[in-house]
Amino acid sequence: MDPTCDPSRASFLPVAADSHFPLQNLPWGVVAPTDAAPRCAVRLGDHAIDLAALQAAGLLAVDGLPGGVFARPALNDFMALPTVVRRATRARLSELLGEGCGDLRDAANVRDQAILPLEAVTVHLPVRIGDYTDFYSSREHATNVGIMFRGKDNALMPNWLHLPVGYHGRASSVVKSGTPIRRPRGQMLPPDADTPVYGPCRLLDIELEMGFFTAGPPTQLGSTISVDEADDRIFGLVLVNDWSARDIQKWEYQPLGPFNAKNFATSISSWIVPWEALQPFRATPPAQDPEPLPYLRGEKSANFDIALEVGLTTPAQADAFTVCRSNHKYLYWTPQQQLAHHTVTGCNFNPGDLLASGTISGPDKGSYGSFLELTWRGTEPITLPSGEERKFLQDGDTVAITGWCQGDGYRVGFGEVTGEILPALAG
Ligand code: CA
Repeated sequence: MDPTCDPSRASFLPVAADSHFPLQNLPWGVVAPTDAAPRCAVRLGDHAIDLAALQAAGLLAVDGLPGGVFARPALNDFMALPTVVRRATRARLSELLGEGCGDLRDAANVRDQAILPLEAVTVHLPVRIGDYTDFYSSREHATNVGIMFRGKDNALMPNWLHLPVGYHGRASSVVKSGTPIRRPRGQMLPPDADTPVYGPCRLLDIELEMGFFTAGPPTQLGSTISVDEADDRIFGLVLVNDWSARDIQKWEYQPLGPFNAKNFATSISSWIVPWEALQPFRATPPAQDPEPLPYLRGEKSANFDIALEVGLTTPAQADAFTVCRSNHKYLYWTPQQQLAHHTVTGCNFNPGDLLASGTISGPDKGSYGSFLELTWRGTEPITLPSGEERKFLQDGDTVAITGWCQGDGYRVGFGEVTGEILPALAG
C-alpha cells in the first residue's frame, strides 16, 4: 500500500472522525487568504494548508519540484510534473502533517502562516481547464435514456458496448461548487408543436457524474496513452454536476449531439482527491461483454467504490432530501479506458484537462443519477417531505452532490458540489 494511505496514521491537527479530509486524503485545491493572491493548497480536516508558504519556508524540498510552483492561482504547473515528483511531494506533505514529524508541528511561525482555517480563505476553481470532455459511460443511464427516446429494443446504440461514447464539452463554463446556476434560455420544440419556440428551459436537470483531471507533461499530437499508461496520467477525481436542459437537448441533439443543452454550466467540487488516495478503494468494473478491442484492455483498468448521493433543498424543504444514491463502481467504461479511447487517434492532452464520466446510474430506481430517469421523463414525479412535487428543477432549488470512500474507521471524501437555480433572465 502507498504509505500515504496508511489508515493508522494521524495528523497533529484535529480531524473529525467523520471528516472527508483526513491525512489519508490530502486533496489538492487553490485558496486565497483575505487580501492575498490565490495559491495552491491541500485540505486537512477544516484547514487549508498553504503549499506556497511551506515551500517558501524550506519544508518542501523535493527533487524536481520547481521553486514557486505553488505560488500560482491554479495547479496546472504542478500537475505537469512527472508522476514521481508529484508522488514524492504528496509523501512529504503526508509526513509533514503527520503527528510524528516535528518539522511543521513545532515551527510555530510557519504553522501560523501555512495552516489556514477554511473560514478564513476563499476557495477557488483549482485548475485552469484547457479542455473538457464528457463521456456517457454508465450502461444503466444509457439504457434508461435509450428506452425513453427510442424504445426498449433500440435502447443501446450499436457502438455503445464497443467504445466509451463521449463528446467535447465547453471548458469555459465549468464552475466551482456554490456558483449559482442561471436557468438557460434557448430553442425548444413544445410537445405536439410544429415549430420551435424560444424561452426559458422548462426541463432543467442534473447529471450526477465524476470527473478526472489529466496530469504529467503535455503529450504530442499523434501520441497515444494506453489503458495501463493512463493509470499514471490521472491526477485525481472531483464530483461533477453536468446541468442539462432536457427540452433544449431533445430538439437540438440530432445529428451531432448536445450543444446548448450542456454549455451553460458544469459544476465541480473544489478539492481534487488524489489518484493515490483512491487506490485502496479500487473496484472491479462490471464484466465487459463483448470483450473490448485490444487498445481498450489493460490490467490497471478499474473504477472506485465511491458512494454518491444527491440532495435537494427548496425554499419549502430546508432539510436536504436525498433523491438518489449511486456509486462510481457501476460505470461500465473506466477512467483509464476513457483516456485511452480519447487518445487512440493521436489527440494530444495537457495537464489539467477534465474528463467527466457521464451520468452514473445504478441498477435500481433509487440509484438513477438524473431527474430525467428518476421521474421517468416527468411521468412519475418525486414527492418531497414538504409535500412539493418535482419532475425537474424549479427556481430556488439547490442541488448538493456528495461522495466518499468508506475505509475502516475513516473516510476519503470529496466534500460536495452545490448549485442553486436562479430564474432565467428576461428574454
Ligand atoms: Ca453528461
